[in-house]
Amino acid sequence: MDSETKMHYLCHEKDEEMRLSDLQTGEAGYIIRVSGHGGFRRRIMEMGFVRGQRVEVLLNAPLKDPIKYRVMGYEVSLRRDEAAMIEVLTEADATGVVHSTGNGTTSATHNIEKLVARRKKTIEIALVGNPNSGKSSLYNAMTGGREHVGNYGGVTVEAKRGTFRHGGYEFVIYDLPGTYALSPYTPEELFVRRHLSEKIPDVVVNVVAASNLERNLYLTTELIDIAQEMVIALNMYDELAASGARLDAGTLETLLGTPVVPVVARDGRRIENLLDTIIEVYEGRNTTTRHIHINHGPAIEDAVAELRKVMAADFDSFPKHFSRRYLMLKFLERDRDVEHLLSEACPHYNEWLPVREREIQKVQKSLGEDIETAITDEKYGFIAGALKETLTPGKHERRSVTSTIDAIVTHKLWGFPVFFFLMWFMFELTFKVGEYPMGWIESGVEWLGGLVQHVIPQGPLHDLLVDGIIGGVGSVIVFLPNILILFLCISFMEDSGYMARAAFIMDKVMHRIGLHGKSFIPLVMGFGCNVPGIMAARTIESRSSRIITVFISPFISCSARLPIYILLVGAFFPGHASLVLISIYVTGILVAAATALLLRKTLFKRDDTPFVMELPPYRLPTLRTTLRHGWDKGRQYLRKMGGVILAASIVVWVLSYYPRESEHSYLERIGIAAEPVMRPLGIPWEGSVALVAGVGAKEITVSTLGVLYSDSGTGKTDLGPRLTAPDPASGVPDWTPLAALSFMIFALLYFPCLAALAAIRKETGSARWVVLAVIYNTAVAWLVAWLVHTVGNLMI
Ligand code: GDP
Ligand code: MG
Repeated sequence: MDSETKMHYLCHEKDEEMRLSDLQTGEAGYIIRVSGHGGFRRRIMEMGFVRGQRVEVLLNAPLKDPIKYRVMGYEVSLRRDEAAMIEVLTEADATGVVHSTGNGTTSATHNIEKLVARRKKTIEIALVGNPNSGKSSLYNAMTGGREHVGNYGGVTVEAKRGTFRHGGYEFVIYDLPGTYALSPYTPEELFVRRHLSEKIPDVVVNVVAASNLERNLYLTTELIDIAQEMVIALNMYDELAASGARLDAGTLETLLGTPVVPVVARDGRRIENLLDTIIEVYEGRNTTTRHIHINHGPAIEDAVAELRKVMAADFDSFPKHFSRRYLMLKFLERDRDVEHLLSEACPHYNEWLPVREREIQKVQKSLGEDIETAITDEKYGFIAGALKETLTPGKHERRSVTSTIDAIVTHKLWGFPVFFFLMWFMFELTFKVGEYPMGWIESGVEWLGGLVQHVIPQGPLHDLLVDGIIGGVGSVIVFLPNILILFLCISFMEDSGYMARAAFIMDKVMHRIGLHGKSFIPLVMGFGCNVPGIMAARTIESRSSRIITVFISPFISCSARLPIYILLVGAFFPGHASLVLISIYVTGILVAAATALLLRKTLFKRDDTPFVMELPPYRLPTLRTTLRHGWDKGRQYLRKMGGVILAASIVVWVLSYYPRESEHSYLERIGIAAEPVMRPLGIPWEGSVALVAGVGAKEITVSTLGVLYSDSGTGKTDLGPRLTAPDPASGVPDWTPLAALSFMIFALLYFPCLAALAAIRKETGSARWVVLAVIYNTAVAWLVAWLVHTVGNLMI
């Protein structure tokens, strides 16, 4: 065949492309290719629809879904829109061609095989990239002027189409117009997107200018979202080398899950490598190819998760050419083109709209920018993270503000002191600044107690209000300022983008315990509250790392445990408050680390799937957004106060008040029953009761002590002195400093609160982890507290 006829042959073939859905009942065909996004193709191929297979139509009723086929001896049904994604060579055509070549019928089967094999060996590729990334140069280098080159185009934009052979394959190549993104805003962008959705290339070749990686990779992130087969041609590699910059292309390709082939299009260097890689990807032999999800940050990922819930019912009707995730993200961005596509295909489309508007509002409120900007920012965060690990910039590189700050806070040496200073500063603010408003609230609660004291006559109601409610809730509410300040600091670190940098420098340290830097963010957030920390673990790609992070999160001392420490440290260790506090936090961190190691050694093999740690651009959070985030959390705290803590205080009070006629209240009996278990830890029965009550929420531990040690006489909330005072019955104090320490350690480590357990259940997807957390954590708590108590006793 000369090239002219071949061109004609290929054109003809393209024009009259037969789809499996076109075959009528009783007809048969051979599969040439399955197109569409990666997930769809995998599923279809798993059903047996692989290249070269013969398929027979058992029942194709016009306009009716689904269609019944026989493939590999099985009966399989496909939706019509699924069958339309499968290109076939009809048996009639195949035998027709065979007859006309005059080979006779005896070798017909053999010839069909040959024909199918030839058709299978046609790879259609599309060059997609920024303007001036070198697409046309690459196109010329590939086609080499040897083969036919023609124009193909739309109204305002044009593309070139050409063919050539390499390695036994026939290539059909399209040089598409240059674009920076795949939004439907410019005719070029729309043209490229239409090409990708209608022609569905076998392999997308993303041409990336190595001299301007950050901007060029933006388009790459969009192509990754689309999830078609792809190879990155890293062009202008000569310029990158000349600038003195170095790029670790091997790591970059693992991070992106897409092969990266350095080329110099202008002089054709390494074009062969590129073509070989394209063939590998086409044949599914490439080992780098793996679909990754670009993480768009918690706000946007939550919005996608909400959309997924309402959209899932229509997933089968979704267009098959782009991944669902891409379509959902674009729908979230209010992309007109995608809106149109989805509204045509999906019966429940209208029900999604209010959900989307609500989610958009949430994202905009939480990030302080419109949804499109937010998504763009997150994509650049992904790129910055990927380049941070792979690109060493040249000497003369101009530095942006972001990279200047990054140079300090992610510095190999300076990064750590900066981080520890910020942590120290955060806790300093929490404790020192928090003391002032704490004093005001204390006075307020006392005033209220005094008021109730006078207004309500003596009796059970009086006792309930003063001892149960004011004593219980009041003892916890005084810590609201500390908790608010801690939340404000954490929100600020998160919102400003600093937390991502901290995670980046902690990567190496985290590897020591078998985790990744990404696990660091949920753990730091856990200082505020373990629940959002556990939920933040969702962004960790590797399942085992995610589960381990979730499981060790409760050992990170959250703000609910703060009241316990402040109370007991203040009462028993006034001279060494900071030292004791730090030791408790460090104990939690060490137990978390040891547990992570233990899990890696036993249940989970090490997992080294590399992934990008996003470095979103720095934002100076406005006072408004920071206060709002802090207040959101404060409000939750207050709600908890009014709900579970109030209820628990009342229950504890009732149990401690009744039965009136008996010497031992119900509560005392519970405490006495726990005595044999808790005695080795030195914890008095009041402490055991408080711990039992604290399984609901750890603050309840303090409110329970508040009820048990209530001082009806004065209505004072200052609980500390009453703990250190001698017990009227025995004449000695119930607590020793050592008992207090062992109590704090036990409270830190035991039984995660109910909200944390619910979060563990949700994020691991299994009740098994909840049961394990309850048993393991309580056992570890007992063991460590016992060690503290025993060793402490030896030392005194
Ligand atoms: P297109 O807009 O993506 O089609 O890009 P072109 O192929 O027209 O190339 C844009 C410019 O980059 C031209 O001046 C090319 O000569 C130059 N160029 C293309 N490939 C390379 C390369 O590998 N190295 C260098 N240094 N320049 C290149
Ligand atoms: Mg061009």
